[in-house]
Amino acid sequence: MTDTLTVSVLGTGIMGAAMARNLARAGHSVRAWNRTRAKAEPLAEEGARIADTPAEAVEGADVVLTMLHDGPAVAEVMRQAAPALRPGTAWVQSTTVGVDAVEALAALAAEYGLVFFDAPVLGTRQPAEAGRLTVLAAGPTDGRTAVTPVLDAVGARTVWTGEDGADGAATRLKLVANSWVIAATTATGEALALSKALGVNPQDFFDAIGGGPLDMGYLRAKSALILDGGLEPASFAVTTAEKDARLIVEAGQRYGVRLDGAAASADRFARAAAQGHGHEDMAAAYFASFEPDESR
Ligand code: NAP
Repeated sequence: MTDTLTVSVLGTGIMGAAMARNLARAGHSVRAWNRTRAKAEPLAEEGARIADTPAEAVEGADVVLTMLHDGPAVAEVMRQAAPALRPGTAWVQSTTVGVDAVEALAALAAEYGLVFFDAPVLGTRQPAEAGRLTVLAAGPTDGRTAVTPVLDAVGARTVWTGEDGADGAATRLKLVANSWVIAATTATGEALALSKALGVNPQDFFDAIGGGPLDMGYLRAKSALILDGGLEPASFAVTTAEKDARLIVEAGQRYGVRLDGAAASADRFARAAAQGHGHEDMAAAYFASFEPDESR
């Protein structure tokens, strides 16, 4: 196999479109499919072929990359695609799915003779567009040569967590990292909501913690989105964050730890979505602290 591959990207939302673009720019032959075709069409300008069905997208693929919303969506789409794949084809599964779903997807891969890589990513819209994601990957050592050019095109580095994609080591690491991201997002939203309610200028809060260990770039970045009206287009949407928070709570339940903060975050994301903020950046969970008419 040469370094120039035929790569099929299933799912071209915020992350998938950026990853497909970088694969095309790295010289790979990209075939893209998205449920809402219009979101995939701009990729044609990069030389990608846009397919009408998942099965059409994966014909002749060396590697299939899935970047969909959640585990059920991946299973549904791969059930349509898999019969058109040659046994032995590598499947890089980068959607954030739960620990239960990763087992089910690995079983689906085994059913069709596909080589399964559990490969979630760290990083959001901007690193995805820059090809600077961190890929957390688990999969067989002897299949890695086939997928390394793909991982290199979308990411700045790959952290290998194990040799068996089915055991979910990469997904477990991803869920731990996202529990931190979600906790920081919730804390940011609540600190700003409290400052608004108490009549505290947020800048006084930033100045008070500035330069010390409680200050962090993430607080500043998410606060700016809330305070300066930068919630659209989202880097990581409220509805996606709710899905991830629930996956984290479920993983905690399965492994016997209580995660009260993640459960509360999931409810805040759900409330913000019900207020009409679902498509906005997850920082919009801030609005869940207010009755709908007092937030803006
Ligand atoms: P997104 O923009 O909402 O894209 C989701 C994609 O899934 C879209 O292509 C959507 O199709 C498709 N989809 C949803 N349900 C489907 C179904 N039932 N059947 C077929 N297609 C379906 O989300 P994203 O931000 O790119 O995130 C994609 C994945 O990466 C998620 O698992 C997310 O947790 C993970 N992730 C996101 C980030 C981030 O910062 N955004 C970072 C790391 C990981 P339509 O266009 O038709 O709706």
